[in-house]
Amino acid sequence: MKATIITIGDELLGGETVDTNSAYIARRLGELGMAVAGTVSVADRVEEISAVLDRAARESDLVVVTGGLGPTEDDVTKQAVALATGRELEVDERMLKYLEERFRDDSGVRPGVLENLATLPRGSRALDNPVGAAAGLALAHMDTAIYVLPGVPREMEAIFEGTMAPELEGLTLREFRKTRLVRTAGLRESVIAERVRSVMPLQGVTVGYLPRTAGVDLRLTALAADRAGADSLLDQAILRITGPLGRHVFSTEGESLHRVVGRMLIERRMTIAVAESCTGGLVGHLLTEVAGISASLERDIVAYSNTAKAESLKIDEALILEHGAVSGEVAEAMACGVRQLAGTDLAVSTTGIAGPGGGTPEKPVGLVYIGLAWEGGSSVAKDVFRGTREIVKERAAGRALDMVRCHLLGEHEAWKR
Ligand code: AMP
Ligand code: MG
Repeated sequence: MKATIITIGDELLGGETVDTNSAYIARRLGELGMAVAGTVSVADRVEEISAVLDRAARESDLVVVTGGLGPTEDDVTKQAVALATGRELEVDERMLKYLEERFRDDSGVRPGVLENLATLPRGSRALDNPVGAAAGLALAHMDTAIYVLPGVPREMEAIFEGTMAPELEGLTLREFRKTRLVRTAGLRESVIAERVRSVMPLQGVTVGYLPRTAGVDLRLTALAADRAGADSLLDQAILRITGPLGRHVFSTEGESLHRVVGRMLIERRMTIAVAESCTGGLVGHLLTEVAGISASLERDIVAYSNTAKAESLKIDEALILEHGAVSGEVAEAMACGVRQLAGTDLAVSTTGIAGPGGGTPEKPVGLVYIGLAWEGGSSVAKDVFRGTREIVKERAAGRALDMVRCHLLGEHEAWKR
């Protein structure tokens, strides 16, 4: 089953509005087992919409259109559908009655607007819009199912979930496509690709590499006769891939690193404290995104200046003066200090040079030390991250969380690569 998405609106082409509708629809069609073959954005012009629609209907089994369904002059989608499918536009009397009833007490409705909203290409079916005035519509044309939905994301979603998805779920697909996200931390894309290559290919499964700020995601897509077949292919592929990637895989369900770490801490009833310099509270922010983290997170101290580090983390100021605030010694002392103060099982700390200024040949921009302290030990990791200030902060926070994760897996030194 091949699907095409067409989004309509000058504002999408001008970049003023980001086309979130096609992302939403593509994701949902994917969950329903369908492949999106293409997405096109088109201006508010009858001839252009009609041409794109005509081509999409020839090439796909399903076409989903959003936008241009309102009653203003720039809303021309229905005319374009009529033109592309060779139909007349006519007033749907049942729908007009319904709209007249609904807007009876609304004095702001201009004459003609309800007639306009109730006008549909002949032979199309109106799709109830529970949250707005413009109904969606569905029609069949040359063996292709065409669904037309409003542009307002909330309304599009309401009709998609209320009417369209249940109808699509009822279809018997010739093949079922399913994707899953395997998320990794701590390995470069090229290294991952090499290790994955050693255990692939697997018939029916393709792998895509998606580099993110703090790691690389693998997007696995399986194509099988049905959902169960696709699921089983994905399970096999994930089993193969996670072998050579080992602990670098932190989720096979698309979960974020901070949620994985938060969940591990809570499940193991481990407490943690955080001391942050260069990440300015980002590690604590990420952990506090996790519901229920109060059972594990005791405190997060943001200590930026030397004085703050000495005072609030009980670090000897001489140590800072001797090694510098951005040093392994200070990172380790920060972690030990905050753990002592908080009385937690674990503590993690960050100190680094986020840039863009402040670097020296010995201590370049992007240099970050992460300290980890636990009952009976402590250690420190050093990294030099490339990128903007924001990226360095994000990567440092990601590394700090990943160190905690590796520690919880029983690999104290594993993140020292
Ligand atoms: P329309 O149905 O074309 O009148 O669009 C109504 C509103 O929905 C406008 O404010 C658009 O910016 C917004 N909108 C239309 N299409 C999209 C889209 N593909 N993604 C996100 N928002 C959209
Ligand atoms: Mg529009």
